[in-house]
Amino acid sequence: MSGPKCDIGVIGLGNMGRNLALNLADKGFKVAVYNRSPDKTEQFMSREAGERDISPARGPEELAELLARPRAALLMVSAGKAVDAVIEDLAPLLDQDDLIIDGGNSHFSDTERRAGELEKLGLNFLGMGISGGEEGARLGPSLMPGGQRAAYERVAPLLAKAAAQVDGEPCVAYLGRGSAGHYVKMVHNGIEYAFMQLIAESYDLLHRGLGLEPPELNALYHEWNQGELGGYLMEITAEIFKVKDPDTGAYLVDMIRDRAKQKGTGKWTTDDALELQSPTPAIDSAVMMRNLSTQGGLRSGLHQALGSATALDLAPAVFAPLLKDALYAGLILAFSQGLSLLARASEHYGYGLDLEQVCRIWRGGCIIRARLLERLRRAYGDRPGLESLLLDPELGPEVMARAQGLRAVVAAAAAAGLPAPGLMASLGYLDAMRSGRLPFNLVQAQRDFFGGHTFERVDRDGVFHHLWQE
Ligand code: NAP
Repeated sequence: MSGPKCDIGVIGLGNMGRNLALNLADKGFKVAVYNRSPDKTEQFMSREAGERDISPARGPEELAELLARPRAALLMVSAGKAVDAVIEDLAPLLDQDDLIIDGGNSHFSDTERRAGELEKLGLNFLGMGISGGEEGARLGPSLMPGGQRAAYERVAPLLAKAAAQVDGEPCVAYLGRGSAGHYVKMVHNGIEYAFMQLIAESYDLLHRGLGLEPPELNALYHEWNQGELGGYLMEITAEIFKVKDPDTGAYLVDMIRDRAKQKGTGKWTTDDALELQSPTPAIDSAVMMRNLSTQGGLRSGLHQALGSATALDLAPAVFAPLLKDALYAGLILAFSQGLSLLARASEHYGYGLDLEQVCRIWRGGCIIRARLLERLRRAYGDRPGLESLLLDPELGPEVMARAQGLRAVVAAAAAAGLPAPGLMASLGYLDAMRSGRLPFNLVQAQRDFFGGHTFERVDRDGVFHHLWQE
């Protein structure tokens, strides 16, 4: 390459890497690209790169040579061993203060380990969650970086240009030390799982319970997307109900097997929420239902043996507004659970997260972007350190007003035998979290009875044990 060197190197030209490289080049940066399989680099250069200022590298050595110093390399390879393999090849070619950014969906514990290993080598490392899928990567994603602040500051102008823009603000912010960025991305995905589950349950109630077909569903979700429920997932849900299968002419959604895959980020959220004892039942139920969905053969057998749901005993015009309220309450409750987990994790891992910034950068580019996020951002902005979104003077009463709908929907689903574990978990969370006294006095009594696990008393301090039986 002649002329000035490249501002950034993108390693991995899969779905995300290709689109990010194009995005960065379109924003005026000089980009170097490298992919393990050279044919992908060749294809990218001949088909997509066009006249853009993108330089291909045939190996990590050539990539290191192409980059301006201090270097910045963005890894967009499959999470797990691939990231370690690429770092192993690249690190010896870099100099002190060069920067590696892992933009994949790495588990936060891997990011923590890699940050430590690279720091020992004198290299900088950012773990950066990226959300928005291929389109986000191409046009502007939500970027969630964590690691050394000074390293972030160096690439901040580049990230700000690459990110989605909302009201003139880029959807990127420095989130905190070490694995903060990947932790925030993991919880983002957990919330995504929860809201997808709630929407799927609403579809099941409308379709299986009330017999609504794709054109009616399209109209309903489209209408809901115009109001307080508005957001990317509602928008694409409405769109999905418009699409016909080119092979059969039927609605495509009806031709898709009812088994959902997962790549682990939802489960990771549940795993760590359990570890940190931060309740996330809506996320947990979404993960559990994806697992249950894979047992298609057993479900069919049980359907034959035991029968399944009956229709809902309600008119669509009566049920739809209740369901809309249930979804809105569910959306706030899912965010509330995810953001409370982030607050707990921030304390536990020392991230120093600013939840106002987290909500701000989720407003655009990412899969969970939704109109509601502007209000959540304001809630944390007005009251930094807010322990629960439900304590916000506007959001708490709003959830309570919508809870009537959530309760009615859960009751109707239970009466008909239609599964709605996400909605039920959301309602259970709301009711449990506002119970001043829960029945765990009895659980403690049982634990002390059979295991001498002791208990605390309501009337005085200390730890007590009782001989429950002679
Ligand atoms: P992808 O299309 O499957 O591409 C994977 C890339 O990783 C390819 O360039 C592949 O190179 C490279 N790779 C795999 N194993 C490697 C190894 N051992 N050494 C070197 N390179 C290796 O993946 P993607 O969808 O772009 O995702 C990339 C990352 O972004 C993942 O962590 C993913 O979870 C995350 N992410 C994806 C999305 C999405 O919507 N797709 C959204 C957010 C985040 P070869 O061509 O040589 O195989």
